[in-house]
Amino acid sequence: MQKILNYINGALTEPVSKQYIDNIDPSTGEVYSICADSDERDIELAYQAAEAAFEGWSNMNINGRSKIMLKIANLIEKNIDKLSLAESIDQGKPLWLAKNGEIPRAQANIHFFATAIEHFASEAHSMGTHALNYTLRTPIGVVGCISPWNLPLYLFTWKIAPALAAGNCVVAKPSEITPMTAFLFSELCMEAGLPKGVLNIVHGLGPKVGSALVAHEKITAISFTGGTKTGAEIARIAAPMFKKLSLELGGKNPNIVFADCDFEKAVTESVRASFTNQGEICLCGSRLLIERSIYDKFKDAFVKEVKKLKVGDPLLNETKVGAIASKMHFDKVLSYVELAKQEGGTILTGGKAFSPEGRCAGGYFIEPTVIEGLSYNCRTNQEEIFGPVVTLQPFDNEEEALMMANSTTYGLATTLWTENLSKAHRVAANVKSGLVWVNCWLLRDLRTPFGGMKQSGVGREGGWEALRFFTESKNVCIKL
Ligand code: NAD
Repeated sequence: MQKILNYINGALTEPVSKQYIDNIDPSTGEVYSICADSDERDIELAYQAAEAAFEGWSNMNINGRSKIMLKIANLIEKNIDKLSLAESIDQGKPLWLAKNGEIPRAQANIHFFATAIEHFASEAHSMGTHALNYTLRTPIGVVGCISPWNLPLYLFTWKIAPALAAGNCVVAKPSEITPMTAFLFSELCMEAGLPKGVLNIVHGLGPKVGSALVAHEKITAISFTGGTKTGAEIARIAAPMFKKLSLELGGKNPNIVFADCDFEKAVTESVRASFTNQGEICLCGSRLLIERSIYDKFKDAFVKEVKKLKVGDPLLNETKVGAIASKMHFDKVLSYVELAKQEGGTILTGGKAFSPEGRCAGGYFIEPTVIEGLSYNCRTNQEEIFGPVVTLQPFDNEEEALMMANSTTYGLATTLWTENLSKAHRVAANVKSGLVWVNCWLLRDLRTPFGGMKQSGVGREGGWEALRFFTESKNVCIKL
């Protein structure tokens, strides 16, 4: 059985404990590889390697760093079939989605920051003939990057790329639920000639090796993407050590449909926004708020489209909804469907597990589920489910839509549908979320600030925001 090894000091290494955890293919429910069960000893080795590599990497000229990163980006492109298949098997997402969305985006992340760093500049503030201030932005040192299971290689590269481009050395911890593509990525780093120790990937359980990474006193910045509870735990450990923190956390995103929308487009894109990647994208719209005058018409059209989504074997082209990433998450999502029923919700379609015939009979599949009849403030409508479950709620006017949209503790992304430009601007300005899409969903420009308000996170990723996070700024004031 394939072993997923750590990547420390430029080599694939066994965990110090020599222990491994099972890695399961969620589309079959079967163990198909084993993953290093690392602990604080592996983190220490990774830190030592990163620390030793820092001087060379941070002093390498920008063009040199950029060239190596571009080689890695090219290798992702060259290996797209292998990586897409690995991601689909490891995570449960449809293979076509990995190949058309996630893996190209992982390549783009590396490419983007490899080139962005060549244009990154710092500020100067002139005080006329009295003095000149200029800002130095230097790499922090050894930084930690922790990523989740829903978009494994995409979110892993989204963190490590700006960290490396800015001249830091990295200790990264991918999710233990989906470690495979980060492991394959370590092989690409070796092939590209990334100097040893610049990037170290330590696999294993979050509360064990993830928390050891956060607790390491010499790793002074942590970039984390994952659940809000985990983010709070990381902040609790990191805050007394005054670590720099970037936290990208959960969401409960509203998708607001006004009566004056482009109806067909709103229906089609709302289906995509609700169920892409089994609804396991932090940006998926999980609460569909629909203006009452079109509620019934929209509901019928939406449910009709959802019923067409084929659930099953992620390797088949016709599959639109693959497997839920783990048994634990599968149980959690189904428990929320039960909760919705207890809270008085009506299931319009889906609402149960699904067992396809053939090789995927033991997999973790849930039918795309649409629920109506719940109050905006019940638990189902307030807590993150993070699966193929969406609720529908009518609203009477813009104020009510905003009140419902802003009613949760989260504030990650909002999607809104209207052909009225003024209304679009007003709602976008008043909705409390870090990202707003008007008449589209998940249209991304990597230069833009990315992240959430309230309990969806602290800080922003993307573009200059990420490069600023991964550098220390120092102002130098010269009296003239
Ligand atoms: P998670 O918090 O369980 O795990 C995320 C990562 O943190 C994993 O690598 C895990 O091993 C590690 N971890 C767990 N406990 C830890 C600890 N005590 N200390 C250090 N590390 C620890 O999240 P998940 O279930 O993998 O991912 C789903 C969550 O991620 C959802 O809430 C989703 O909304 C969120 N998410 C947010 C964004 C965003 O950009 N805001 C993007 C994707 C996913």
